[in-house]
Amino acid sequence: MEIGNQAQIVRVPLGRANAYFVISEGQALLIDTGIRRNEQKIVQASGNLGLSPSNIRLIIITHTHYDHCGSLKALKDMTGAGIVVHHSEATCLKEGYGGFPKGTTRLTKVISLIGRTIGKHLGGYAPVSPDITISERFGLEEYGMDGYILPTPGHTLGSISVIIANRHAIVGDTLFNIFRKSVFPPFADDQEELLRSWRKLYDTGCTYFYPGHGNPFGREKLRRSLEKRKKRTLDAGKYPSDRRRAAFC
Ligand SMILES: [Zn+2]
Repeated sequence: MEIGNQAQIVRVPLGRANAYFVISEGQALLIDTGIRRNEQKIVQASGNLGLSPSNIRLIIITHTHYDHCGSLKALKDMTGAGIVVHHSEATCLKEGYGGFPKGTTRLTKVISLIGRTIGKHLGGYAPVSPDITISERFGLEEYGMDGYILPTPGHTLGSISVIIANRHAIVGDTLFNIFRKSVFPPFADDQEELLRSWRKLYDTGCTYFYPGHGNPFGREKLRRSLEKRKKRTLDAGKYPSDRRRAAFC
């Protein structure tokens, strides 16, 4: 998608998950890297966009699950780009294992349990050291981008989103667009925190959201999902009332 000033956001569908390029004035950010052995697909996509590997300045990892950083090490070696991750997940990258998140439905709770049992065997990837670890909002001006990284915990503790031109949010697994009526992810370590991050993303004023799974979607779908979730959580009495309210403030 063109985003003005000759900048663009390009989704690279990788089967299991999406990666994204944000391109401005011949410089690029790569956000997420898919599963293992996705590096050729990503490099090919960058070539089709007229980028050489050295044009990729930063690789931003929205969180350290295997389907988002499976090809990170290979791409780091090919591009020499700096790697950015939230500080709370830096150790996961160095160990090459980001764990499995908790399920948010009956089915995904079972899948999560299986995932945790199989563990590293299924969810491991080549270890890599990050160059930049962040813990709060991080500006991208230095990399030629009108944008910033915003911590959006919930799916995992160190989940982050990338906000471009105050209109476009690349959100990893904080929002999932695989269901028709909701963007609630099937997995999340802390659902309360996740809803707070949704509110934060909504409050950025962004109009387009680019998830790690599924197609990009508009603000209205997030608003509807937020309303639905808010009602459901308040109705269910899942949390003590003051904490419940705090999740939506
Ligand atoms: Zn994930």
